[in-house]
Amino acid sequence: MSACDNNDCIRAVNDAERIDTDAFYRDSITKGFVKVEDIARNIEWVTPTVWGDIQVTINLSKPEKDPAAIAAAAKQKDPDKLCDLCVTQGDIDSGYAKNIQLCDEPWALWYSPYAYFNEHCIAMSWEHRPMHIDRAAFVGLCDFVDQFPQYFIGSNADLPIVGGSILSHDHFQGGRHTFPLQEAPIDRTFTMSAFPHVNAGVVKWPLTVLRLETIDREALIDSACRILDAWCAYTNEELGIIAVTFEGKQAIRHNTITPMLRKRDATYTLDLALRCNITSEKHPLGAFHVHDHLHHIKKENIGLIEVMGRAILPPRLMREMAIDDASVRTEIGERFAEALCCCGVFTWDVEGQAALDAFLDTFASR
Ligand SMILES: [Zn+2]
Repeated sequence: MSACDNNDCIRAVNDAERIDTDAFYRDSITKGFVKVEDIARNIEWVTPTVWGDIQVTINLSKPEKDPAAIAAAAKQKDPDKLCDLCVTQGDIDSGYAKNIQLCDEPWALWYSPYAYFNEHCIAMSWEHRPMHIDRAAFVGLCDFVDQFPQYFIGSNADLPIVGGSILSHDHFQGGRHTFPLQEAPIDRTFTMSAFPHVNAGVVKWPLTVLRLETIDREALIDSACRILDAWCAYTNEELGIIAVTFEGKQAIRHNTITPMLRKRDATYTLDLALRCNITSEKHPLGAFHVHDHLHHIKKENIGLIEVMGRAILPPRLMREMAIDDASVRTEIGERFAEALCCCGVFTWDVEGQAALDAFLDTFASR
């Protein structure tokens, strides 16, 4: 054993800001911040589908609070916190959160008390400000995996219907887990002439996902911005994709992206799920949201974790379905994959894929 084989020494030679996530996670469990016993009650299984092995979880760890308990909790709310993701000095002092830097700004990191997967962590800006998918978000994601390459990181989209449950506070979610999307193959490649060192392709996945892979961080960010700009301006009325509508003179944007990033050795892999939150007469909850006939399985937004192929289903399914039955589990897994297909802006038929190719042709060659 050399003189430098202990954690204190390793920490000292690393950047002062660097966090030993193994120690931080252990500490979060020891102090009871991460509710491992509750998390162990969750039910999970894998259902093989044409899209790969979809992961299904029924989250039983979050206590179902009655209205009186919610009201009582609201009264005790910390006045410094505008929302559940606001960080306070008390969170840092107790060891619940640690300070990190993303985009040259103060952010904080903590572990989700009721994790949806192993070492499920949340990074949030110290400033209470809305979610935003833009260049700064891509930079923040890269900064995160540069510091924590052992974790994937992603952001929910920044619009209702296709975003997560909290749009009011800028945050990312990450952790140590492999999701079905990460194992999904490339269906076909395309080339962006301005970024010859970025490998780009369409992922074979129910939602429309473009994958960028490169060791060049700046090219990754620039090419992601190029795709975001093209997508945010894209309308195809035949497919029901509408980039912008107007309420009076005010333009309402409908297109956005759910980005997911990981880094192995020096290579960044960025998956960009194209999202559109337009509603229609036929689908008043969202044209690219889970459709009515699947609401018995899933009615809530399809957010980051589910985009990656891990279903988070409500506890009510325990009461409504024979969840221990293997064929019922298969049925639920397959219906969840179908729910993901509802969120795909370019469908996997001849018309949908031809339209996707035409969209790619606006900024790339094939
Ligand atoms: Zn907040």
